[in-house]
Amino acid sequence: MVNDEKKLGITVKKDENFSEWFTQVCSEQGAKLADVRYGVQGFVVHRPWAFRILREIYGLLENEVEEDNHEPFLFPTVIKEENLQKEKEHAGFAPDVFWVTEAGDKKIEEKVALRPTGETQIYPMYSLWLRSYNDLPFKGYQSRITVFRNEKTTRPFIRGREFMFFETHDVFLTHEEVMDQIKKDLDIAKRVIYDKLKIPFVFFKRPQWDKFKGADATYTPDTLMPDGKRNQLASTHDLGQNFSRAYDIKVKDKEGNDVYVWQTCFGPGVWRIMAALIAIHGDDNGLVLPFSIAPLNIVIVPIVFNDKKAESKDVLKKCKEVKELIKEFKVKIDDSENSPGFKFNEWEMLGVPLRIEIGPNEVKSNEVTLVKRTDKKKIKVKVANLKEEILKQSKVLDNEIKSRADKYFEDNTKSAKTLGELKKIIEVHRGFVKVPFCSVENEGEKCADIIKEETSGGYVCGTKFPEEDRAKSETCIVCRKKANHIVYIAKSY
Ligand SMILES: [Zn+2]
Repeated sequence: MVNDEKKLGITVKKDENFSEWFTQVCSEQGAKLADVRYGVQGFVVHRPWAFRILREIYGLLENEVEEDNHEPFLFPTVIKEENLQKEKEHAGFAPDVFWVTEAGDKKIEEKVALRPTGETQIYPMYSLWLRSYNDLPFKGYQSRITVFRNEKTTRPFIRGREFMFFETHDVFLTHEEVMDQIKKDLDIAKRVIYDKLKIPFVFFKRPQWDKFKGADATYTPDTLMPDGKRNQLASTHDLGQNFSRAYDIKVKDKEGNDVYVWQTCFGPGVWRIMAALIAIHGDDNGLVLPFSIAPLNIVIVPIVFNDKKAESKDVLKKCKEVKELIKEFKVKIDDSENSPGFKFNEWEMLGVPLRIEIGPNEVKSNEVTLVKRTDKKKIKVKVANLKEEILKQSKVLDNEIKSRADKYFEDNTKSAKTLGELKKIIEVHRGFVKVPFCSVENEGEKCADIIKEETSGGYVCGTKFPEEDRAKSETCIVCRKKANHIVYIAKSY
């Protein structure tokens, strides 16, 4: 069946209606990433192209944490009720937890929770596993799992009732090691999210009133989406001894004393990273993927027409030769019955970085036409030089993606000295706004609430970590007391 020139349909421009653009890119009419027609609200089907991209992201994270001596493990999906409630602040997750209460038509003896996150399932086991300072540091992680939270509003890759998860859980003898690990987590986030995926971010220390439930401090890399809203890409938590005391995780130190351990956990938001990848790099024709993360680097499209069978045979033969020549990359020949124009649109929609076109003319001249997804410029390349040219163009493409993302991020990070100025920026441009602020301890929350009210939802993200130069003579934009910090404000999802 020939699917002649049927254009895959994104009908809105990203600049004009980002929200609708995002929905369309994810859907059937776009890159077919997430299917929300599954029939249970907040539970989505990850279609093959999305799952392949997610696997690439997971692969990068797994390599990085294993390089940093983390061991993989896999815990069950369910958690005992009493374990879920042990750490008092963390028990604040309870209203969002799904419970399993029945099996068949009988109530089960002890109801169990679907995990909202891993702490309360993993730490009871740590208390059994860890005995001596010799067992430390202990670094474990689980990957390619999902967690469950009863979110009110849901949207693929932004917020779901079941969403993809990755988490490390590390145990140390001292708090000093905790702080070292947090810096290592930051490096991992930078290497994966910025260096590989080309997504710029600021690493924040969250204000005290907005840290993870049960943590002493929370650190997060946040990016900006094309609508100027903040997107939290990961979080790493200084858990102090809160969980070790609640779950009785003690080891013998060198002197033979029982001591509570110190802990961190790091959770790259795989879904949120995916959302940023789609949103920040994509354009009006669909996804744009960096070369190294794309499930396919290169698609070869034979330029053949059904009424010229003899020519077609030569073209297909050439396509196979070329594929063999560049097999170190992830390459596919699209020899389907669709027209070349249809294929171009389809692979552009999926964000495949490079396209090779081979037709009868190319066969004769022993050349191919190479097309970059970003600017769609056509370059004629001798087959003998192809590998070299692909390496060159893949770097050019990655740089284009990176500098475009960096520019948007820089252009949308501004400063304000007064509440009025902040209001204006947030209303017109959104993005991050840096302002002088009194306190990121709990007493600052009042000023944060006023900012939220005055700017209809502006959120105090926290201070940059490590912290930037403080405002010396400046005053808090709300209470006019001495400003001890520069904080970033942004609207959020
Ligand atoms: Zn203040």
